[in-house]
Amino acid sequence: MTPVRGDLPARKRINRLYDESLYRFDAVEPSYWEATGGALSFASTALRGDASCDVAVIGGGYSGLSTAYHLAGNLQADVRVLEAGHIGWGASGRNGGFCSLGGSKLGLASAVRRYGIEAVRHYWRAQVDAVELVRSLILEEGIDAQITGDEELAVACSARSFAELRAHALDQFTLLRLDASVVPADEFRERYFDSPQQHGAIRIRPTFGLHPVRLVRGLARAAVARGAILHAGSEVLAWQKSGDVHLLSTAGGTLRAKKVVMAANGFMPEHLHRSFAGRPMPMISAIVVTRPLSDVELGAHRWQSSTPMITARNLLNYFRLLPDRRLLFGGRGHSSGGAAGTASNYELLISQMRQLCPAWHDVTIDYRWQGLVCFTRRLTPSIGRLADDPSVFFAFGYHGNGVNTSIWAGREIAGWIASGAGNAVPASIPLMVQGLSERFPLAAIRLWYLRARLAMLRAADRIDDLRS
Ligand SMILES: Cc1cc2nc3c(=O)[nH]c(=O)nc-3n(C[C@H](O)[C@H](O)[C@H](O)COP(=O)(O)OP(=O)(O)OC[C@H]3O[C@@H](n4cnc5c(N)ncnc54)[C@H](O)[C@@H]3O)c2cc1C
Repeated sequence: MTPVRGDLPARKRINRLYDESLYRFDAVEPSYWEATGGALSFASTALRGDASCDVAVIGGGYSGLSTAYHLAGNLQADVRVLEAGHIGWGASGRNGGFCSLGGSKLGLASAVRRYGIEAVRHYWRAQVDAVELVRSLILEEGIDAQITGDEELAVACSARSFAELRAHALDQFTLLRLDASVVPADEFRERYFDSPQQHGAIRIRPTFGLHPVRLVRGLARAAVARGAILHAGSEVLAWQKSGDVHLLSTAGGTLRAKKVVMAANGFMPEHLHRSFAGRPMPMISAIVVTRPLSDVELGAHRWQSSTPMITARNLLNYFRLLPDRRLLFGGRGHSSGGAAGTASNYELLISQMRQLCPAWHDVTIDYRWQGLVCFTRRLTPSIGRLADDPSVFFAFGYHGNGVNTSIWAGREIAGWIASGAGNAVPASIPLMVQGLSERFPLAAIRLWYLRARLAMLRAADRIDDLRS
């Protein structure tokens, strides 16, 4: 029997990158989504004793559930999902609900230099397909995911930023053959909202808003209906291989599987398998949600839209008006996730929200929560199959934009597994996302790179503000 990474079964010995409070799988993050997520209408029990299956998936978020859903459906595979918390415990139950284009932080010029324009266009076509995949899955499975809006706006916070958006961003979207257009400040004021910080925007399609927990629960229900078995409360503590069989051990039992899919994104248990160690760069993203806003308050900013929006900055904020007239406002989280830093980060978010909407200076906050998104060293998602063990697949690194990308990636991995093809990567998976991204050098201190990078971006935003 071979441990794939040392002998580290005991949870207490895991060295996490962030504060331990980020990894309390038995706790429920106090989000607006959890409070309004509807009933659990699917079965999921902890793994007890020994069991076996063809495909075991580690992680019960969108990536893992989509893999299971697509495998169990037309592909008829015998698949089980092992989830440490409850189904949707991770980012899939905590995000802003933007089903939008993104997934990569690699700039266009660098991407074209590295992969060529056709490969880059292929990536962005897949992004559009991914948004439409989520939409059709919601409709076909009758998921009450509360879809709102049909576009995303990148809002310029200064006249200078708007000029740059118009001059450069639009050209880039055109080069990528994406559906983007300019919204001047006066049209923006009439159709969306007004603020001292809005100077026009770029409109991008397709995008829509949704309810993340309702989506994750709907996807889980659909996967179970197709025959997938979900094990919540089943953290994988050790991963060993005996001949061709993987053995995934939890506190309650052991799952034997012919194939394994690693689908844990920012919460990746890197210690379980040497191939994944040092590859992900998790980063905290945080959200606050106001109490419901009155007509007078909405009127003070002429707010009349539920369109998902972001600020066009390096360290952006994302925001949308929810169906019950609360504002959801998100941004980067604290750099370590400790209690004091997390509290001051929420205050920073709230002050950013009040700068955008000064008339709401005394509107109280009803919900605040956070979770981990995942970057990679090459700044594009990592989707593939291990070169030295073709029975292990993976999908992670969606750069804070995984609602569409994770569900699409799960479908691609499922198709790949079911096709039985050797190591050949299916043609539908764009070059930009294929395979593992390089490891971070000195991976144990990789958060220091992240902090340095964030400090540089923050400084660049400040300089932009001063020049505006
Ligand atoms: C605050 C926030 C806001 C965001 N907003 C947006 C947005 O508006 N739009 C967008 O596109 N994206 C957004 N994202 C990102 C998006 O939510 C993620 O990219 C996506 O949900 C990733 O899905 P996943 O299934 O790969 O990972 P996750 O949903 O994080 O699931 C991974 C799961 O793996 C489990 N796990 C970890 N270790 C183990 C183990 N040892 N054994 C078993 N299970 C384990 C975890 O418990 C977790 O549930 C946001 C993320 C956050 C945190």
